[in-house]
Amino acid sequence: MDTLSNRLNSLSPSATLAMSQKSAELKAQGVDVINLSVGEPDFNTPDHIKAAAIKAVEENWSRYSPVAGYPALRNAIVAKLKNENGLDYTAAQISCANGAKQSVCNTILTLVNPGDEVIVPAPFWVSYPEMVKLAEGTPVIVAAGIEQDFKITPAQLEAAITPKTKALILCSPSNPTGSVYSKEELAGLAAVLARHEQVYVIADEIYEHINYIGRHESIAQFTELKERVVIVNGVSKAYAMTGWRIGFIAGPEWIVKGVNKLQGQYTSGPCSVSQKAAEAAYTGTQAPVEEMRKAFERRRDLIVKLAKEVPGFEVNVPQGAFYLFPKCSSFYGKSANGRTINNSDDLAMYLLEVGHVACVGGTSFGAPECIRMSYATSDENIVEAIRRIKEALAQLK
Ligand code: PMP
Ligand code: GLU
Repeated sequence: MDTLSNRLNSLSPSATLAMSQKSAELKAQGVDVINLSVGEPDFNTPDHIKAAAIKAVEENWSRYSPVAGYPALRNAIVAKLKNENGLDYTAAQISCANGAKQSVCNTILTLVNPGDEVIVPAPFWVSYPEMVKLAEGTPVIVAAGIEQDFKITPAQLEAAITPKTKALILCSPSNPTGSVYSKEELAGLAAVLARHEQVYVIADEIYEHINYIGRHESIAQFTELKERVVIVNGVSKAYAMTGWRIGFIAGPEWIVKGVNKLQGQYTSGPCSVSQKAAEAAYTGTQAPVEEMRKAFERRRDLIVKLAKEVPGFEVNVPQGAFYLFPKCSSFYGKSANGRTINNSDDLAMYLLEVGHVACVGGTSFGAPECIRMSYATSDENIVEAIRRIKEALAQLK
């Protein structure tokens, strides 16, 4: 008999990882699939970072690290936050984990009590509501459509806050939309939050460096709020290090202590060698970060131009990350070869099986009218993928 815990039964599997796996399976069967599903840089980790890891292995960095991470890594993160973001933290206010994913989940589990509400603006990254459910909290979804560039307004935030609200999860630049909150927009949200002292902000800034409008703006810059903001960031996206699994939080010391207590019983400090690599990423040359950012910007321009030429797509111009999130609901109700498209998941499956392009349906991101494409791939793949998508969609009547 199936005796999985209720906690697990209430959890949805990660749609991004599921679609990526499905695409890999088709590829293994010999189908020429272009994978625009999973969001990870297609670049290799820069050489100086790899060299630091090799050195760490040779120098026997092979034992347990402190739960929060080595002091040298945390000091490097403190310096990064000061130099790049103008924010003051101490090493005691930093805790490193196995990727930003664990950092978000650690923070939610540390702050949220059963029944607490957590505001999650939609479209959202697939894992946020599931993590809130793991903590037995209630995700409160606030929808922002393409007409408002997928960003919530201060009025929407104000309307969503109740006495039970414990936190807001804000992701900028955003996965899955690529939208970026400007300093003025963040100030508007901060003004609302300043009036509600029980609300904490989990600011997921993992796409900080993949930003096409210049300087990254953090909501932690508003001093009236800083004591209630937990920044989440890490090396995965900026330094093409998704497999190394190093993320961190920066926040009030009492929250960081809570996270350390949780992590100490749960996973301990993250991988020692990866921490040495992450230290090299933060202290070494930043030139590769800018090179990769430029490549992503060029690809953004390319995919936006091509996607705008697809009849039936409505396209926003993403200002960060590496996702395009076109509205595609005009195809719902249409059919081809006896197969009817009723929603974004049907459309994603149709594009995979007929067009051989893997995307992720918007439903799991809280935006069933859209579909997500990751353009962290070559220009050739982008051109061919959109050509295939256009051709497959044109068959739908
Ligand atoms: N937050 C967002 C918005 C993401 O897209 C990702 C990528 N999976 C993460 C967090 C997790 O990053 P990491 O690989 O460092 O766990
Ligand atoms: N952030 C990436 C994505 O959304 C990685 C997959 C995941 O961790 O969900 O595709």
